[in-house]
Order: sequence, then C-alpha cells, then structure tokens
Amino acid sequence: MELYGGVETGGTWCVCAIGAGPEEIHRQEQFRTTDPEHTLEQIVGFFQRGPAFEAIGIGSFGPVDLDPRSPTWGYVTSTPKPGWQNVALAPVVREQLGVPVAFDHDVGVAALGEHRWGAGRQARALCYVTVGTGIGAGLLIDGTPWHGLIHPEVGHLRIPHPRDRDPFLGSCPMHGDCWEGLACGPAIEKRWGAPGNELPDDHPAWELEAEYLALGILSIVFVFSPDRIVVGGGVMERAGLLAMVRVRLRELIAGYLQTPLLAEDIDSFLVPPALGDRAGVLGAIALAQSARRRDAR
Ligand code: ZN
Repeated sequence: MELYGGVETGGTWCVCAIGAGPEEIHRQEQFRTTDPEHTLEQIVGFFQRGPAFEAIGIGSFGPVDLDPRSPTWGYVTSTPKPGWQNVALAPVVREQLGVPVAFDHDVGVAALGEHRWGAGRQARALCYVTVGTGIGAGLLIDGTPWHGLIHPEVGHLRIPHPRDRDPFLGSCPMHGDCWEGLACGPAIEKRWGAPGNELPDDHPAWELEAEYLALGILSIVFVFSPDRIVVGGGVMERAGLLAMVRVRLRELIAGYLQTPLLAEDIDSFLVPPALGDRAGVLGAIALAQSARRRDAR
C-alpha cells in the first residue's frame, strides 16, 4: 500500500503522521508549535525517519497563500501568531524532503478528512465548522476545498449582536464582535468570567451560544447551500449544545427552504464530526493522496 505524509500545524500543536487512512497509520507524533525554525526542523526530522512515502499534505493555520501561481505559494502570510508572518512552510518542507507537497488551510484539510473517512462522506457540498479557540470553516465542493480569491474566512462574518441582551464587545482582535468574536471559546470565557467547561448546563451562556451559532450557520446555509454541515471543536463538546443549535436553526430558516434536511431530518444535516481531533492530520494525508492522483492523470 502506498503511504503518505500528513502535517497539521495548529496554533498550539503540530501533528505529523505517515499512513494511508484512519486504520493505517504507521507513525504519528505531535509536538508544540514553537518558532518556525524549530517547528520546521521537527517536521522534517519526523519524515526523515521514515517509512518511505509518496507525497506530503500540509494543513496549516492561516491566513495562507494557496495560489499555485504565486511566488509565496505555501506560505503562512498575515497571521497574528508571533514570529509566523511570511513563513515559507510548504516550500521548505518540499525542498528539504524532496517530495511533492500539497498545501491547504487547516479547516479545509479537516473538512477533507471528514469527507473521505468521517461524518462528511458522500456530501457534494460539505461545510466543516470548528468552534474552539476561534471559529473556522472549510468548504468542499465534490471533495475539493473551495478557495475563491484567498480562502473563505467564515469565522469572521457578521451576525446580529443584540447589545441589550449581550453587552460584551467581542473578542476578535480584528473585528470585535464578528461571529468568532462573539461565539468562540475565549469569547465565552471573557463574557462570563469562566471557561465554558466550568459553566453548568443550565447557565444562560448556552442559550446565547446556540443563538449565535445558529445565526452563523444560517448564513452558511443561505450562501453556500451545503448538503451537510459538520460542527466540531472544543466548545461543541458541551452535551446538548448541538441539539439546541438545530432547534434554533430550524426556527430561523422558518420553512423557507423546502427540504426535509432543514426540517424533520435536520439531525442528519447538522452533524458532529466522526474523526475527532484526528480530522486534521488524516485530512492532510487525504490531501496528499488527492494531489498525487491528480498529478498522475
Ligand atoms: Zn473577526
């Protein structure tokens, strides 16, 4: 069986694996994402130890340059993460290891993992949303991440913010009360003075959170028209939150789009992930496999 390399560079952790799928991982390691030089050294060192593989897929935090015609393709660009602006992530890995490298945004790659092996299988237009330290979403059309001009930044869309009900100004350093600024994990902690996992189930935080998540997802439904949305990330581990979002989303759609998936079958439209925190690194392997198949044609 042909093996592939997968790298997920996250804001905190970097995960590397060599394998061919969820049941076929030969080696996997994770280490802290520190400064770019040290992190790249660790990535290259991991793959030099083998076993041999065909190509590498990398899913990175961003923003990233995904334009194959750009001189800075494969770079992490204007990220707020200290020391990581304009880092030639994919080009350095390609040069040091001498193998083909496929590169994409972390949430696009996680979406690919869920599409290939997880909760997004058979979806033609798939959206994968993660709600954790930020909010991000990957959009796949027929199993290919959609980039558009740069790449979608769904977490920063605007949603209604009723200030009388919620005077919190938002946590996004760029926009204040964008979707992420109102509904990511750090926003919950700043608003209520305690992290989400310390708030009880009957805390008013959860009704507000479900409202904000449903509003953002409503925009995704109306703009992208996905046939499935996978919602994961640390915040979604709260039991019952996804069910609250489903109820509120149905109310907000208000019967306007006539499909059972947005009504009585919404449980199979808005679904939890199946791969958990492995979606990123498995998606990176899937990205490498897809790129290799495309090149072979
Ligand atoms: Zn923002």
